[in-house]
Amino acid sequence: MNGKLENEKRAERYFRTLTRLGYVLALFIGICLGVSYSAWTLNPLLGFAVSLLSATTAFLFLALLEYRIDRKYKGITSSRREYLIVALPVYAIMLLFVITGLTWRTVLTYAVGTMVFVYMNATVILLLYASFTLFPRMFRIRSKGLELEDPKLVDKILGIAQKMDVKVERMIMLSRKKLKVANALQVGPRKFSIYISDYLIENFTPVQVEAVIAHELAHAKKRHLLKNLLFTLPFGLISMNLLLYSWVIRANHISLIIAIASIIFLLTVNIAITPLRRRLELEADALSAKALGNPEPMISALQRIGELNLIPTKYPRIIGWGLPHPSIETRIEKLRRLR
Ligand SMILES: [Zn+2]
Repeated sequence: MNGKLENEKRAERYFRTLTRLGYVLALFIGICLGVSYSAWTLNPLLGFAVSLLSATTAFLFLALLEYRIDRKYKGITSSRREYLIVALPVYAIMLLFVITGLTWRTVLTYAVGTMVFVYMNATVILLLYASFTLFPRMFRIRSKGLELEDPKLVDKILGIAQKMDVKVERMIMLSRKKLKVANALQVGPRKFSIYISDYLIENFTPVQVEAVIAHELAHAKKRHLLKNLLFTLPFGLISMNLLLYSWVIRANHISLIIAIASIIFLLTVNIAITPLRRRLELEADALSAKALGNPEPMISALQRIGELNLIPTKYPRIIGWGLPHPSIETRIEKLRRLR
């Protein structure tokens, strides 16, 4: 019991430190955007160079800081290089912002009239499509993901999938022992794959592994990724088009009002998406309990995830409000009520 309490305290400290890192990240992004924007207005080429440089600096600084935090609290054994490789998708996202900025700038400089709208909407949809096909691939490379080979586990996953009526395309094992990350995820909005970390398989009982897999399969069955996308994409596009429109009519005095409205609109969507995501998590938990016949396996899996990944069982409501997962306490409470 004492060990458990100590673990919870360490989890709380770890969580607080990471939250602070999140604030630093937000500040960094703000500074980078400001500096890049100033450089852009001077010269597009300079703007591009500055954006690229600031994104790279911010990425290296934050990733290495997080590496130190993970070493201190979780005792990870990976090297700096391995850690940076795992964080590469974050870098890719940062670069995507740079490219989006460049496209935005180019389109606004050279396109006229309705073509501005056509170019920008096509670019956003293309980037989104690319991210859906590229990210899973990147995930496998960066995590040294291999097809799952343990025949017993493969059979088990296929058995649960059949029971839940979900077709699984690939099962990938992610190499995360040195990073001490116990997790699993469902990839693909249409063709479903399940990714699971070796650290989770090693530290969970077989029935806990089943519960986690049933949870991921539930995300697939209920098409949660697609729902997420369908919720955000239209709002994102409307907001972007409003912003473009305000630029096209920039000589008119209402252009500023439209620009502000578009930004408020985008912020609202961002705030509204996290409650939706939390609801989908609870739905997946409930379906996992249903597939396994009782909620106990999922409850114990959640407790184990908290212990291994140093997630505190509860945190201040204001912080929980911005997170895509409900707290472990809430999730367990909801599962207990299913009985
Ligand atoms: Zn989930």
